Amino acid sequence: MTALSAQTLESIQYAAELIRKSQRAVVLTGAGISTPSGIPDFRSEGTGLWSKVDPMEVASLIAFRYAPEKFYEWIRPLAVQIYNAAPNPAHQALARLQAAGCFKVIITQNIDNLHQKAGSSHVLETHGTFRTMSCTQCFERFSSNGFIEPYLQEGKIPYCPRCGGILKPDIILFGEQLPVQTWNEAQSACRNCDLILVAGSSLEVLPVAGLPLQALDRGAHLVIANHQSTYLGVRADVLLLGDVAEIIPLLAEQVLHAGSAESCHD
Ligand SMILES: [Zn+2]
Repeated sequence: MTALSAQTLESIQYAAELIRKSQRAVVLTGAGISTPSGIPDFRSEGTGLWSKVDPMEVASLIAFRYAPEKFYEWIRPLAVQIYNAAPNPAHQALARLQAAGCFKVIITQNIDNLHQKAGSSHVLETHGTFRTMSCTQCFERFSSNGFIEPYLQEGKIPYCPRCGGILKPDIILFGEQLPVQTWNEAQSACRNCDLILVAGSSLEVLPVAGLPLQALDRGAHLVIANHQSTYLGVRADVLLLGDVAEIIPLLAEQVLHAGSAESCHD
């Protein structure tokens, strides 16, 4: 059963047509694609994460350097949620579309690893990841495996096995540069695409929110699926308002069933 209107269903069909006709589509996802998996928006107010502390006091790079234990204590409930979360039908539908060749790259603002858990490859994580950690003294990078479990279970702060420095998860804090290579790849993908599908992003956090503009400026189509309108709604070829965990699977179904088996293009 679907609560979607006939008009939305028609729009989904049109969006599917655009995706099938595209040759170099890219996908951009934000927090909204993971809220159906129970993950709160790390950067938004009103999620409970910010209710007790000022984010700049715990989640900025300066704050981390000054009082890493405060940061680790604050982010632990979110880290536990991320670690235990499972991908939802929207992540799965995007993985299916990617496997069918509808697009190569997923650019995401999320740090939750759910696209990868759903089977997607080539995910550009513009706000970093919890999967790896870097030493704040010697800059050596480590897999979070082995460090993350004692932290999640007992709150044990991870230290560098090489030099004893404190390890910082490779998520991007306030006041921190985006990962350069990832960001360059994301920009290049957007400048060279002929369609951009924005799913679950309210396009409020810069600079990622500006990526669809780079695509639009070069004549790409824009499809937006989100629970609320965004600043680019007026420029979208198709605007799909509603629950992405419902809309994206329907969209994938339309794209793939209109073609031969599991291939995106005829
Ligand atoms: Zn070190």
